[in-house]
Amino acid sequence: MHSVFSPAIKKYLKDYLKRNGLLTLSVVAVITGCVLGFLLRGQTVSTQAKIYFSFPGELLMRLLKMLILPLITSSLMSGLSSMESKACCRMGVLTVTYYLWTTFIAVVVGIILVIIIKPGMGTEMESNRLGGGPVMTSADALLDLVRNMIPSNLVEATFQQYKTDLVPVPKAPATQKTPSFVYVVPDEENEKKAGQSILLELTPAPEVHYKPKPGSSQQMNVLGIVIFSATMGLLLGKMGERGLPLVNVCQCINECVMKIINAAVWYFPFGIIFLVAGKILDMSDPSSLGKKLGWYGITVLAGLFVHGLILLPLFYFLLTRKNPFVFIRGLLQAMVIALATSSSSATLPITMKCLLENCHVDRQIARFVLPVGATINMDGTALYEAVAAIFIAQVNEYELDFGQLVTISITATAASIGAAGIPQAGLVTMVIVLTSVGLPPDDITLIVAIDWILDRFRTMINVLGDALAAGIIGHLCRKDFPTDAEVSQAANGNPPNSHNLQDLNVSGTEVPLLASKDSVYEVFGDTVIERPTVYYNICQV
Ligand code: ASP
Repeated sequence: MHSVFSPAIKKYLKDYLKRNGLLTLSVVAVITGCVLGFLLRGQTVSTQAKIYFSFPGELLMRLLKMLILPLITSSLMSGLSSMESKACCRMGVLTVTYYLWTTFIAVVVGIILVIIIKPGMGTEMESNRLGGGPVMTSADALLDLVRNMIPSNLVEATFQQYKTDLVPVPKAPATQKTPSFVYVVPDEENEKKAGQSILLELTPAPEVHYKPKPGSSQQMNVLGIVIFSATMGLLLGKMGERGLPLVNVCQCINECVMKIINAAVWYFPFGIIFLVAGKILDMSDPSSLGKKLGWYGITVLAGLFVHGLILLPLFYFLLTRKNPFVFIRGLLQAMVIALATSSSSATLPITMKCLLENCHVDRQIARFVLPVGATINMDGTALYEAVAAIFIAQVNEYELDFGQLVTISITATAASIGAAGIPQAGLVTMVIVLTSVGLPPDDITLIVAIDWILDRFRTMINVLGDALAAGIIGHLCRKDFPTDAEVSQAANGNPPNSHNLQDLNVSGTEVPLLASKDSVYEVFGDTVIERPTVYYNICQV
């Protein structure tokens, strides 16, 4: 029997599936998860059944989280060790400046939109103006951020981070307490029993104030680990031959992690179905969100759209003169994972894979720019924090002057830097923004109901921001690093136009060896392995 497809269509389908098969499967998985989740919401599902149902999704999250630590440490140590310190410094300064700039722009976009749309005006939502819980001050939160940059114990940093706790302490000493009395007019029931008013002695509720105390939260201290690994990488490079064994270990770990990711991605579509369906099964009734919260959600989504799909691509175009949407197309797989997991740290391995394989960003650039970005660059989170703070001010009919708007933009930028790349971390650091302008932090409860959905979209923009930054920095620093293509080209006998790659022409080696100023490149067909020059020197001994 003849096939219904002509050979040309067959070839096209085969090519398409080869290039986009995994992405298509992931998108289908998100849709299937949504449908399954909504279908099951109609049924009564016990908590135990929900836990079993979410199990494959839980495995996906665990798998991704497992790769974060080896990926970050090995990428930064091996990446920075093979860089010349001047190039490294230039790349570091450019990266951090670009990250701060785009985060600030995101905040400004959010502020403009929330002021125009006014989602919180004239609302009947109940605010917690007198919210009584303990509130950490912005200063404490910022100090925690700095403390976490320098972890006191590296092993501990892999599973927990420093967090100031507030403990209640009675204000006045117990001896000074003065009893107060109150007449209780008995209700009918009591009247029958006692027939008279009762004088009760009330023990005054002890007045408490909250004292900051060192504590911890059960999250990996990614910021501390990034700073330590980057410092080690820089110094290993300076140590030359003596640092080489460790550099090689890191390079091996890095290659192994990428191989694990390549195998694990085939599990993702299956895990995503249950991750998404499990979350939909758990969510509160969408009709209870209310009109105002709906407008608030639309404001955040509009801001994310403007920033992620207009401004960031525009910056990319202006700085590289390349089509940003071709670049973004290569990142779709990472963005689907970000949507499904709500965690930019967990998405990091896939973002790295997409950047190297689809967007062809230089390995050395991606190894530095991405882990740093996943830790400090969260444009989506910053935008959302600014919108949420001003929304809460509008609900409270609290007029914000220009100075307070500036304060919000600075604190929202700082709060997004301090937020971990995990689900709903932005909600926690938002306290910094609210307290900085005197808004009640308890009002965070107003936006909690819708936060898990917004979190997914802002995580996508966080991941997109990091990846576009890698593309831009890769372009700006291209003179400092030869690309893999240039190395392969040179290996095939075509001298590249830049970088002065020289054929080392080592007799007896089967692998072509090329050298630039600080690195030696071993070319295995399409694969190029980069080693610090000292490695080559050792091989020659
Ligand atoms: N979930 C976000 C991320 O991982 C952080 C946040 O905005 O809550 O990037």
